[in-house]
Amino acid sequence: MDLSYTRTEEAFRAEAREWLREHVPAEPLPSLETAEGFAAHRAWEAELAAARWSVVSWPEAYGGRGVGLARWLLFEEEYWAAGAPGRVSQNGVQLLAPTLFDHGTAEQRARVLPSMATGETIWAQAWSEPEAGSDLASLTSRAVRTDGGWLLSGQKTWSSRAAFADRAFGIFRSDPDADRPHRGLTYLMFDLRAPGVTVRPIGRLDGKPAFAELFLDGVFVPDEDVIGEPGQGWRIAMSTTGNERGLMLRSPGRFLAAADRLVRLWETEGEPADSALRDRVADAVIGARAYQLFTAGAAARLPTGAESSLNKVFWSEYDLALHETALDLLGADGELTDGAWAEGYVFSLAGPLYAGTNEIQRDIIAERLLGLPKGRR
Ligand SMILES: Cc1cc2nc3c(=O)[nH]c(=O)nc-3n(C[C@H](O)[C@H](O)[C@H](O)COP(=O)(O)OP(=O)(O)OC[C@H]3O[C@@H](n4cnc5c(N)ncnc54)[C@H](O)[C@@H]3O)c2cc1C
Repeated sequence: MDLSYTRTEEAFRAEAREWLREHVPAEPLPSLETAEGFAAHRAWEAELAAARWSVVSWPEAYGGRGVGLARWLLFEEEYWAAGAPGRVSQNGVQLLAPTLFDHGTAEQRARVLPSMATGETIWAQAWSEPEAGSDLASLTSRAVRTDGGWLLSGQKTWSSRAAFADRAFGIFRSDPDADRPHRGLTYLMFDLRAPGVTVRPIGRLDGKPAFAELFLDGVFVPDEDVIGEPGQGWRIAMSTTGNERGLMLRSPGRFLAAADRLVRLWETEGEPADSALRDRVADAVIGARAYQLFTAGAAARLPTGAESSLNKVFWSEYDLALHETALDLLGADGELTDGAWAEGYVFSLAGPLYAGTNEIQRDIIAERLLGLPKGRR
């Protein structure tokens, strides 16, 4: 097995590194979960896009470089190693865009993707409902046929960054008489500022106001904003989740950079006699490298399908362990400091929940990868 990169790949890496070295803001941007930080991150997306670094794996026609996933993974390594800002456009780029590439029309791709690539339109994901999280197929928000389109009604919740986003994509029940809950669903895009939409921020423990719930009351969506055939929403949504849990949401580059920061923390805070903590730091480095190799393999075996659940369980538990190790290194007051490790730790607690809980991922792994019998639900 040859794990070395080609000369073209190394040249691509060097070009990315050079650009990032010159352009990554010297000071971290304010949190993208605040209005001020959201605007600053949107401007950063525009800067990335102007140099065609915002969506490197997309075709050039939509603002990408058409370089494929292997070089996207390299770009991600350089991006996080350079300490570049978090991506405020991630719901659009990582979830909606792959869905449009697989199921959208040419017209939808031409209309939606360029402004997503520049950060001019930021997208929110509107799937979850108060009574439909893990059991997403039980969702009750409705899409009712009207002249030239659909009227949306109902409530969506836990929508990341929806308080400041421009548009959303979600699944809605369009045929309440369908014989099974996951039939009769339709996948649509809608405007968060359309008449009939109320966006209500959900207070978070850290006080940052971007998380939101959405109330929809007869919101008009034209036919051109339906993705795929009406009634096929479930099948289309399931192809989206593979992207979210698998390669895109948490690329190995992020963890390689975090493991590197952890080693530097060990060098300043570590106690050489504490072999248990030293082993946990070593585990973090080994874990990041193992995830890098596993993900490179997954990228070569697309589509990932149920295998993406392995990635999701791994990165979410890894992230938690890494941050716990950092806080243990920082000592008793580590959680009280307002630093990046404490903030990262709080967010890592949500990793086993969002993008589908790890209990659900383990069910998928048991049934679809290991062929175990279906559990009782
Ligand atoms: C930080 C964060 C960001 C999010 N962002 C978004 C977003 O942008 N858009 C969006 O649509 N949603 C978003 N979500 C919602 C997320 O997808 C849901 O929280 C998740 O799917 C779980 O649903 P739930 O919260 O309703 O929990 P429930 O489904 O009620 O689950 C509660 C508990 O029961 C367990 N459980 C449920 N069913 C089973 C089963 N069959 N077998 C074993 N255990 C089971 C679950 O694993 C969990 O531990 C976000 C959530 C978080 C925490």
